[in-house]
Amino acid sequence: MTFAVHAIRFASRPGVRGQHFLGHDARSHEPHPTAYSVWLATDGEHTVLVDAGIDPDRPAPIDGLVFHGSPVDGLAALGVDPAQVGHVVLTHLHYDHTGTVAAFPAARFVVQRAELAYWTGPVAARIRREQWLVSRADVEHLTGRARDRLDLVDGSVEVVPGLEVHHVGGHTAGMQVVRVRTAAGPVVLASDAAHFAENLDADHPPPILHSVPDVHAAFDRLRELAGPDGIVVPGHDPAVAGGNTVVRLA
Ligand SMILES: [Zn+2]
Repeated sequence: MTFAVHAIRFASRPGVRGQHFLGHDARSHEPHPTAYSVWLATDGEHTVLVDAGIDPDRPAPIDGLVFHGSPVDGLAALGVDPAQVGHVVLTHLHYDHTGTVAAFPAARFVVQRAELAYWTGPVAARIRREQWLVSRADVEHLTGRARDRLDLVDGSVEVVPGLEVHHVGGHTAGMQVVRVRTAAGPVVLASDAAHFAENLDADHPPPILHSVPDVHAAFDRLRELAGPDGIVVPGHDPAVAGGNTVVRLA
């Protein structure tokens, strides 16, 4: 059995390069448009959503977001009702990846144990660079109302046959990436392990990160997981969907 994989781009934001590449240089002020997406993997039996995006009806902690719809609208365009979603893999717990968790009444939520431990531990709330990046309401939903559907995992785990998560760290403590078996070969959903193709191609980390060495190790791991026949899908790169809001990746 193989999966079809779609990217659903629900928002865009005009950014600058300095927000996406670590260190200041002469190009830091240059425009650098940013896409916000979730990803859907379906094989006729399983419906897996990768990340939960942002709820357009709630205030987001960043300026300039232009919504194309909600992630749930994107699923509807693909004929998927939220109640059909069996798993929501949360690649990490930044607000732009958890915003609609409450919309999936039957889904199991797959999160690395190290990720939840970091955001609910004593340190993250004290780090100014980090604290605004997490939605306490979303974390409270996962550990409260949805706690019986929260699957905390460690390392590499097969979620359903043909779809695996792999802990890579780097961007956040428990950052995980998703490898999906498709008819066209492996599709590796990098999410924020590589925001843009340029992060990977130029070996240039993003400025928001947990560990520089682990970001570079994650770049290597993404390539290794894709292998010679696979593709790596960066998390915030507008080139992935072009001008579309829903695009089939494989
Ligand atoms: Zn993100």
